[in-house]
Amino acid sequence: ATHLVWFRNDLRLHDNYALHAACRNPDAAVIGLFIVTPGQWRQHVMSPKQAGFIFEHLKALGAALAERGITLHIRQVDDFAESLDCVKQFCEQQQVDALFYNYQYEVNERGRDAALEKTLGRDVVCQGFDDSLLLPPGSVTTGNREMYKVFTPFSKAFIKRLHEGLPECVPAPKKRGDAVFHEDFSFDFPREKFDASLFPVGEQAAIAQLRTFCLEPVARYPEQRDFPAIEGTSRLSPYLAIGVLSPRQCLHRLLKEHPKALGGEAGSTWLNELIWREFYRHLMVAYPKLCRHRPFIAWTDKVRWNDDIKMLEAWQQGKTGYPIVDAAMRQLNETGWMHNRLRMVVASFLVKDLLIDWRQGEHYFMSQLIDGDLAANNGGWQWAASTGTDAAPYFRIFNPTTQGERFDAEGDFIRHWLPELAGVPGKQVHTPWGWAEKQQQTLDYPRPIVDHKQARIATLEAYEAARK
Ligand code: FAD
Repeated sequence: ATHLVWFRNDLRLHDNYALHAACRNPDAAVIGLFIVTPGQWRQHVMSPKQAGFIFEHLKALGAALAERGITLHIRQVDDFAESLDCVKQFCEQQQVDALFYNYQYEVNERGRDAALEKTLGRDVVCQGFDDSLLLPPGSVTTGNREMYKVFTPFSKAFIKRLHEGLPECVPAPKKRGDAVFHEDFSFDFPREKFDASLFPVGEQAAIAQLRTFCLEPVARYPEQRDFPAIEGTSRLSPYLAIGVLSPRQCLHRLLKEHPKALGGEAGSTWLNELIWREFYRHLMVAYPKLCRHRPFIAWTDKVRWNDDIKMLEAWQQGKTGYPIVDAAMRQLNETGWMHNRLRMVVASFLVKDLLIDWRQGEHYFMSQLIDGDLAANNGGWQWAASTGTDAAPYFRIFNPTTQGERFDAEGDFIRHWLPELAGVPGKQVHTPWGWAEKQQQTLDYPRPIVDHKQARIATLEAYEAARK
């Protein structure tokens, strides 16, 4: 028999349900396939950094699979619709009997997979797996079998389910012969270099990072996670986003080091973040409109957004005159990653200080993030814009200056990313123009593009008008 594994967002050997199932029969020949879909990626606004990250991980995966006797084939078509014909042809050429794949939960991906079995007909048996989540969508519901709309009860129910039984990790496949991998593939999609010292390539590197994080830092996470100048978070998001690492690996490693994390002790705060990831994915399946750029709270669509392109560009380029916002945007533009506290700060600033449509921010983030993930990004933006489930209430508006003062008190993060403010001493860096004027100096740094107090009032009015 010939078994095909169609890899998508699961670029790993370990704990990969589809790969594991395909390898269960020791006599079957197992081959892998990955289909590059530049047109679809453009439509989904994939960032060139994420494309670069995928590219490097395909090379690593191809080599690792070849060592175990599994050849990874790479094909390129334009979009998901064409990928179905590509799979069909591939199955015919290779005389595939069974196809194994892990589910993806976004609307276009689900549409593609729903059409898959029809395209392949009866000759190829298809098997899909819930692999990228700890618990499958629809499995954690209220007494009325509905999806939770509030995170805390979801999280409680989720942990209760984990107490009843943990999702198992499956091993990497054993060596089953020899195979070669042809490395000379390419993408017709822009690829950008990413900093491999921040995000080293390969499954082993991701596992090593997870292990180190779960040893010690995870216990300090509750105190450190809000301070961007400290390496207080795991930085595993790029690996989770493209499936170089599974959430089950994270859970099991966490529990190995901190067995009481499920009971609310050391490690539980980090576990809670993994559950946020699940929450947004479960929501996306329960409410497909979230994939279609619709807000969860319908009235928020009536907010009259500001379409000032210059303001949007100032935000994108990190030139708003608010140091913490600008430093964060430069971190994003340079590395493809941004600290979670700062994602909340810059998102709030775009929506509630500039009154720009959150979808512009969601779109820009996707175009830059190395960890771009539709559910988490959409969830984060709708949270910040107060348009989502269990979002910040619309009248809660971060003050960008005090956020900087609280979470980057000494200004170390700001000075790192804004060298033009390197000479502004101590805490003055949060209000550099106030300092410069006293010193009768001028700065090579913009003045604030809006007045926060006035902007806040205008935003409250705009939301209240929409709510009427
Ligand atoms: P850690 O703090 O170590 O958390 C561990 C893992 O839990 C993360 O890697 C991530 O997979 C998950 N996680 C943590 N926080 C969240 C959260 N709030 N929502 C969902 N999952 C979470 N995360 C993405 O992976 N991709 C995105 O495109 C994305 N866009 C965001 C946009 C906005 C506006 C906001 C506010 C948040 C966004 N997040 C996104 C969530 C969060 O900021 C990142 O997951 C986190 O900063 C990644 O760093 P880390 O791996 O060190 O996280």
